[in-house]
Amino acid sequence: MVEITEVSKRFAAVKALDGVSLTVNRGEVVCLIGPSGSGKSTLLRSINGLEPIDKGTIKFEGIDVHGRGTDIRKIRQRMGMVFQSFELFPHMTVRANVMVGPEKVLRLPVAEAKVRADLLLAKVGLSDKADVHPAKLSGGQQQRVAIARALAMQPAVMLFDEPTSALDPETIGEVLNVMKRLADEGMTMVVVTHEMSFARRVADRIAVFDRGRIIEVGPPAQIFDHPTVQRTQEFLSHLGWDAISNAQF
Ligand code: ADP
Ligand code: MG
Repeated sequence: MVEITEVSKRFAAVKALDGVSLTVNRGEVVCLIGPSGSGKSTLLRSINGLEPIDKGTIKFEGIDVHGRGTDIRKIRQRMGMVFQSFELFPHMTVRANVMVGPEKVLRLPVAEAKVRADLLLAKVGLSDKADVHPAKLSGGQQQRVAIARALAMQPAVMLFDEPTSALDPETIGEVLNVMKRLADEGMTMVVVTHEMSFARRVADRIAVFDRGRIIEVGPPAQIFDHPTVQRTQEFLSHLGWDAISNAQF
């Protein structure tokens, strides 16, 4: 579904991406982990065309995302993106936030957009919040609305960039649970995360970033139990990942 080949990207003197290749298959969950500044967000942003690249190609459903003739809006419509900051529209109700994309972009009739929004709010456990404004919600609830809003466009792939990093610890688990359910339903997902217990349980494969490169890719058991690269080991032990409580998730 996503085929990343030898992608490089520089910001002045910084090599944000340095020859990155990665394939994401339909129905697969790939987690991107690694130290801050290693290029994870830059890669995610270039997958949906938010970030131009200097070299290499990124294909989505066979189409060159950065190709000259590519209609990037069409591509973005098929990719749901969830960021650390939820960026909901503050002046709209929760339901209206989820309806706005289907209404304005997909030109769905209001009644249909409403049915879709209510189904998705039920799915993320927020049926009772449909009529309130985002400011009334906890961070975890707002992030679940953001996920529902992305799903309302019926994307082929969901891209998550540290979706729980800005949340109070007590609301992280509810967001991870929604993401796990999505994964179980077969959604194709690329997830930048520092939640190692989530990566271990949910990822089909994990890509470890270091200084703009992917230094190791493999299933969770390889990455966590038998990393083949010294720096993977160093990153994980530095994070103390096994000290992270599994209780919340
Ligand atoms: P990560 O998400 O792994 O923390 P990023 O992809 O955000 O890393 O950043 C990779 C590198 O690129 C970092 O050194 C960062 O400072 C740099 N970088 C990212 N975005 C920009 C930008 N818009 N302008 C300048 N440098 C940037
Ligand atoms: Mg980042």
